[in-house]
Amino acid sequence: MLSLIDNPPPWPNGARCAVSFAYDFDAESLLHLYYPTDSARRLSLASTLRYGARVAIPRLAAIWRHFGIRQTVFTPGWCVEHYPEAIELLLEGGHEIGHHGWLHERVNQLSRGDEERVLEAGIRAIEKATGAPPVGYRCPSGAFSEHTLDLLIDYGLRYDASLGGHDIPYLVERSDGRAIVELPHDASHDDWNQYVHLKDANWQVPVAAPARARETFQADFDAAWNHGGLWTAVFHPFVSGRLARAEEQVRLIEYMMEKGDVWFATCAEIAAHIDGLVARGEWTPMVERLPFWPEPPEQVALPSR
Ligand SMILES: [Zn+2]
Repeated sequence: MLSLIDNPPPWPNGARCAVSFAYDFDAESLLHLYYPTDSARRLSLASTLRYGARVAIPRLAAIWRHFGIRQTVFTPGWCVEHYPEAIELLLEGGHEIGHHGWLHERVNQLSRGDEERVLEAGIRAIEKATGAPPVGYRCPSGAFSEHTLDLLIDYGLRYDASLGGHDIPYLVERSDGRAIVELPHDASHDDWNQYVHLKDANWQVPVAAPARARETFQADFDAAWNHGGLWTAVFHPFVSGRLARAEEQVRLIEYMMEKGDVWFATCAEIAAHIDGLVARGEWTPMVERLPFWPEPPEQVALPSR
């Protein structure tokens, strides 16, 4: 077969691809972030977001237990502190809790100092709940700033899962040559774009039939399997934990397992695998040095009207 990925990484046990159903456990962090003064009267939105913590996490944890797989759940520090039962359940299942801000802040709207405070608050919450600081980070709303990489490296995180620069893991490096692993994804792996229709919050996409959404996810999985890629989702408990969608996720996992030669892993395990390959000189990843463009390009013409 014509290979469409140049130099894919070798996966453990000769697997054809790696899979991590990385979830973002946002719960009502979004509500409190976007409606700080009147969140109390937005009960409908609050109830839908709470569904993620109260109903969906136990359901998803049961699915993952059934299949014997472990996941990464990126969780804002506020959610870690306010939904301890859900976090306990995830820890019992051996799942990884990743950093996802404190209250789902869009950090590229913050000063460097404020972004650092948010990072510290999230680390503290996860460390307190799990006994160890987080290994990985996913930037809320994908709002990775010009300071994010610097801060992640300074605070000892080993990987990021926010960017979209490849179909396989790669390294993002800063000017002093220090780097972390990037586990990229695309909007086609994001359940938000298939299902989220919340009038209260003005997030309204046409709601896809679960089978149609799975077609999109499965096409990316099949391609990753064909060419040695990484399939990692951006799913949300309150979105993909809904009943019919959870059923469809069961079908997707069954499909992946029947196809075989798939490495199901947490994001931390995938990042550690990549780190190991690089350290032993067994594989050379793509390296992206930040910032991409230190200065804006010279423009030969600007709009005059
Ligand atoms: Zn999120």
